[in-house]
Amino acid sequence: MDGGMIMTKKGLLIVVSGPSGVGKGTVLKEFMNDPELNLSYSVSMTTRGMRPGEQEGVNYYYVSREEFEKTIAEGGLLEWTEFVGNYYGTPLKEVERLREEGVNVLLEIEVDGCQQVVKKIPEALTIFIVPPSMKELENRIRGRKSEPEEIVQQRLAKAQKELELSGQYRYIVCNDDVKLAADIIRVIIRHHMERQF
Ligand code: 5GP
Repeated sequence: MDGGMIMTKKGLLIVVSGPSGVGKGTVLKEFMNDPELNLSYSVSMTTRGMRPGEQEGVNYYYVSREEFEKTIAEGGLLEWTEFVGNYYGTPLKEVERLREEGVNVLLEIEVDGCQQVVKKIPEALTIFIVPPSMKELENRIRGRKSEPEEIVQQRLAKAQKELELSGQYRYIVCNDDVKLAADIIRVIIRHHMERQF
Protein backbone atom coordinates (compact mmCIF):
# COMPACT_ATOMS: atom_id res chain seq x y z
CA MET A 1 0.00 0.00 0.00
CA ASP A 2 1.07 3.60 -0.36
CA GLY A 3 0.53 4.46 3.30
CA GLY A 4 -2.40 6.74 2.58
CA MET A 5 -0.40 9.04 0.34
CA ILE A 6 -2.54 10.92 -2.17
CA MET A 7 -1.42 9.95 -5.65
CA THR A 8 -2.26 12.18 -8.57
CA LYS A 9 -2.80 10.49 -11.90
CA LYS A 10 -0.40 11.86 -14.46
CA GLY A 11 -2.22 13.83 -17.14
CA LEU A 12 -2.64 12.42 -20.63
CA LEU A 13 -0.57 13.74 -23.49
CA ILE A 14 -2.97 14.19 -26.40
CA VAL A 15 -1.67 14.97 -29.88
CA VAL A 16 -4.11 16.27 -32.48
CA SER A 17 -2.97 16.60 -36.11
CA GLY A 18 -4.66 17.18 -39.42
CA PRO A 19 -3.91 19.10 -42.61
CA SER A 20 -4.11 22.88 -42.40
CA GLY A 21 -7.61 24.02 -43.26
CA VAL A 22 -9.27 20.89 -41.87
CA GLY A 23 -10.81 22.93 -39.05
CA LYS A 24 -8.78 21.59 -36.12
CA GLY A 25 -9.09 24.87 -34.25
CA THR A 26 -12.88 24.95 -34.62
CA VAL A 27 -13.26 21.34 -33.46
CA LEU A 28 -10.90 21.85 -30.51
CA LYS A 29 -12.80 24.96 -29.37
CA GLU A 30 -15.93 22.82 -28.97
CA PHE A 31 -14.45 20.73 -26.17
CA MET A 32 -11.29 22.49 -24.88
CA ASN A 33 -13.14 24.17 -22.00
CA ASP A 34 -15.23 21.13 -21.01
CA PRO A 35 -14.39 20.89 -17.28
CA GLU A 36 -14.80 17.11 -17.28
CA LEU A 37 -11.87 16.76 -19.68
CA ASN A 38 -9.47 18.84 -17.53
CA LEU A 39 -7.54 20.01 -20.60
CA SER A 40 -4.81 22.52 -21.15
CA TYR A 41 -3.71 23.65 -24.61
CA SER A 42 0.03 23.66 -25.18
CA VAL A 43 0.95 26.96 -26.84
CA SER A 44 3.65 26.39 -29.46
CA MET A 45 6.52 28.60 -30.48
CA THR A 46 6.66 29.70 -34.11
CA THR A 47 8.62 31.97 -36.41
CA ARG A 48 5.65 32.61 -38.72
CA GLY A 49 3.90 35.97 -38.66
CA MET A 50 0.73 36.57 -36.68
CA ARG A 51 -2.53 36.13 -38.60
CA PRO A 52 -5.41 38.55 -38.09
CA GLY A 53 -7.26 37.65 -34.92
CA GLU A 54 -4.36 35.76 -33.36
CA GLN A 55 -2.78 36.71 -30.04
CA GLU A 56 0.70 36.35 -28.57
CA GLY A 57 0.76 33.62 -25.91
CA VAL A 58 -2.72 32.39 -26.87
CA ASN A 59 -2.31 30.98 -30.39
CA TYR A 60 1.49 30.91 -30.41
CA TYR A 61 4.58 32.49 -28.92
CA TYR A 62 5.88 34.44 -31.93
CA VAL A 63 9.68 34.47 -31.96
CA SER A 64 12.59 35.20 -34.32
CA ARG A 65 14.57 32.41 -36.01
CA GLU A 66 17.49 33.22 -33.69
CA GLU A 67 15.36 32.83 -30.58
CA PHE A 68 13.89 29.58 -31.89
CA GLU A 69 17.30 28.11 -32.68
CA LYS A 70 18.55 29.10 -29.23
CA THR A 71 15.62 27.23 -27.63
CA ILE A 72 16.43 24.12 -29.70
CA ALA A 73 20.09 24.29 -28.62
CA GLU A 74 19.06 24.54 -24.96
CA GLY A 75 16.92 21.41 -25.27
CA GLY A 76 13.81 23.43 -24.49
CA LEU A 77 11.51 21.78 -27.03
CA LEU A 78 9.69 18.44 -26.80
CA GLU A 79 9.59 18.40 -30.61
CA TRP A 80 10.00 20.88 -33.44
CA THR A 81 9.77 21.04 -37.20
CA GLU A 82 10.06 23.33 -40.18
CA PHE A 83 6.72 23.73 -41.94
CA VAL A 84 6.31 25.78 -45.15
CA GLY A 85 9.41 27.86 -44.37
CA ASN A 86 8.81 28.46 -40.68
CA TYR A 87 9.79 26.78 -37.43
CA TYR A 88 7.16 25.38 -35.08
CA GLY A 89 7.86 23.67 -31.74
CA THR A 90 6.41 22.56 -28.40
CA PRO A 91 7.95 24.05 -25.24
CA LEU A 92 8.87 21.08 -23.03
CA LYS A 93 8.73 22.40 -19.45
CA GLU A 94 5.12 23.52 -19.41
CA VAL A 95 3.91 20.20 -20.83
CA GLU A 96 5.75 18.24 -18.13
CA ARG A 97 4.66 20.52 -15.28
CA LEU A 98 0.98 20.30 -16.23
CA ARG A 99 1.02 16.54 -16.72
CA GLU A 100 2.65 16.06 -13.31
CA GLU A 101 -0.23 18.08 -11.84
CA GLY A 102 -2.71 15.68 -13.45
CA VAL A 103 -3.80 18.04 -16.22
CA ASN A 104 -4.40 16.51 -19.67
CA VAL A 105 -2.23 18.42 -22.14
CA LEU A 106 -3.29 18.78 -25.76
CA LEU A 107 -0.79 19.51 -28.55
CA GLU A 108 -2.04 20.62 -31.96
CA ILE A 109 0.96 19.82 -34.16
CA GLU A 110 1.76 18.37 -37.56
CA VAL A 111 2.78 14.81 -38.47
CA ASP A 112 6.56 15.10 -38.20
CA GLY A 113 6.25 16.57 -34.69
CA CYS A 114 3.82 13.80 -33.68
CA GLN A 115 6.34 11.14 -34.75
CA GLN A 116 8.97 12.76 -32.51
CA VAL A 117 6.53 12.86 -29.58
CA VAL A 118 5.57 9.19 -29.97
CA LYS A 119 9.25 8.17 -29.97
CA LYS A 120 9.78 9.97 -26.65
CA ILE A 121 6.36 9.29 -25.11
CA PRO A 122 4.91 6.09 -26.64
CA GLU A 123 1.73 6.27 -24.54
CA ALA A 124 0.74 9.60 -26.18
CA LEU A 125 -2.89 9.58 -27.36
CA THR A 126 -2.73 10.50 -31.04
CA ILE A 127 -5.74 11.69 -33.04
CA PHE A 128 -5.79 12.69 -36.73
CA ILE A 129 -8.58 14.86 -38.13
CA VAL A 130 -9.40 14.32 -41.82
CA PRO A 131 -11.52 16.50 -44.15
CA PRO A 132 -14.56 14.96 -45.89
CA SER A 133 -12.62 15.36 -49.20
CA MET A 134 -9.56 17.05 -50.76
CA LYS A 135 -11.85 19.43 -52.66
CA GLU A 136 -13.51 20.52 -49.44
CA LEU A 137 -10.06 21.07 -47.89
CA GLU A 138 -8.96 23.27 -50.79
CA ASN A 139 -12.13 25.36 -50.46
CA ARG A 140 -11.48 25.84 -46.76
CA ILE A 141 -7.82 26.87 -47.27
CA ARG A 142 -8.77 29.33 -50.01
CA GLY A 143 -11.65 30.66 -47.93
CA ARG A 144 -9.12 31.88 -45.38
CA LYS A 145 -7.80 34.33 -48.05
CA SER A 146 -4.79 35.24 -45.95
CA GLU A 147 -2.02 33.76 -48.07
CA PRO A 148 -0.56 34.01 -51.60
CA GLU A 149 -1.23 31.24 -54.16
CA GLU A 150 2.26 29.77 -53.79
CA ILE A 151 1.73 29.17 -50.06
CA VAL A 152 -1.76 27.75 -50.68
CA GLN A 153 -0.19 25.24 -53.13
CA GLN A 154 2.50 24.31 -50.60
CA ARG A 155 -0.11 23.80 -47.87
CA LEU A 156 -2.18 21.57 -50.22
CA ALA A 157 0.86 19.47 -51.17
CA LYS A 158 1.76 19.10 -47.49
CA ALA A 159 -1.86 18.18 -46.69
CA GLN A 160 -1.77 15.37 -49.25
CA LYS A 161 1.43 13.98 -47.71
CA GLU A 162 0.03 14.26 -44.19
CA LEU A 163 -3.15 12.39 -45.13
CA GLU A 164 -0.99 9.52 -46.36
CA LEU A 165 0.53 9.26 -42.86
CA SER A 166 -2.77 9.37 -40.98
CA GLY A 167 -2.62 5.59 -40.48
CA GLN A 168 0.11 6.08 -37.87
CA TYR A 169 -2.40 7.67 -35.49
CA ARG A 170 -4.42 5.74 -32.92
CA TYR A 171 -7.66 7.44 -34.01
CA ILE A 172 -8.83 9.09 -37.23
CA VAL A 173 -11.83 11.43 -36.96
CA CYS A 174 -13.58 13.03 -39.94
CA ASN A 175 -14.56 16.67 -39.61
CA ASP A 176 -17.69 16.60 -41.72
CA ASP A 177 -19.75 17.98 -38.86
CA VAL A 178 -17.88 20.03 -36.22
CA LYS A 179 -20.11 19.08 -33.28
CA LEU A 180 -20.00 15.39 -34.14
CA ALA A 181 -16.20 15.40 -34.58
CA ALA A 182 -15.85 17.15 -31.21
CA ASP A 183 -18.16 14.63 -29.50
CA ILE A 184 -16.19 11.71 -30.90
CA ILE A 185 -12.94 13.18 -29.58
CA ARG A 186 -14.59 13.79 -26.19
CA VAL A 187 -15.50 10.12 -25.99
CA ILE A 188 -11.95 9.08 -26.94
CA ILE A 189 -10.40 11.31 -24.25
CA ARG A 190 -12.88 10.16 -21.56
CA HIS A 191 -12.13 6.55 -22.39
CA HIS A 192 -8.39 7.08 -21.96
CA MET A 193 -8.82 9.14 -18.78
CA GLU A 194 -10.57 6.19 -17.18
CA ARG A 195 -7.72 3.88 -18.14
CA GLN A 196 -4.96 6.25 -17.05
CA PHE A 197 -3.22 5.52 -13.73
P1 5GP B 1 -0.45 27.22 -38.91
O1 5GP B 1 0.61 28.06 -39.56
O2 5GP B 1 -1.59 26.92 -39.85
O3 5GP B 1 -0.90 27.78 -37.56
O4 5GP B 1 0.21 25.83 -38.56
C1 5GP B 1 0.82 25.07 -39.56
C2 5GP B 1 1.00 23.66 -39.07
O5 5GP B 1 1.93 23.63 -37.99
C3 5GP B 1 -0.27 23.01 -38.55
O6 5GP B 1 -0.37 21.71 -39.12
C4 5GP B 1 -0.05 22.93 -37.05
O7 5GP B 1 -0.70 21.80 -36.51
C5 5GP B 1 1.45 22.77 -36.99
N1 5GP B 1 2.02 23.17 -35.69
C6 5GP B 1 1.62 24.15 -34.86
N2 5GP B 1 2.41 24.19 -33.77
C7 5GP B 1 3.30 23.19 -33.90
C8 5GP B 1 4.36 22.68 -33.08
O8 5GP B 1 4.65 23.16 -31.98
N3 5GP B 1 5.07 21.63 -33.58
C9 5GP B 1 4.80 21.06 -34.77
N4 5GP B 1 5.55 20.03 -35.13
N5 5GP B 1 3.81 21.49 -35.56
C10 5GP B 1 3.07 22.54 -35.14
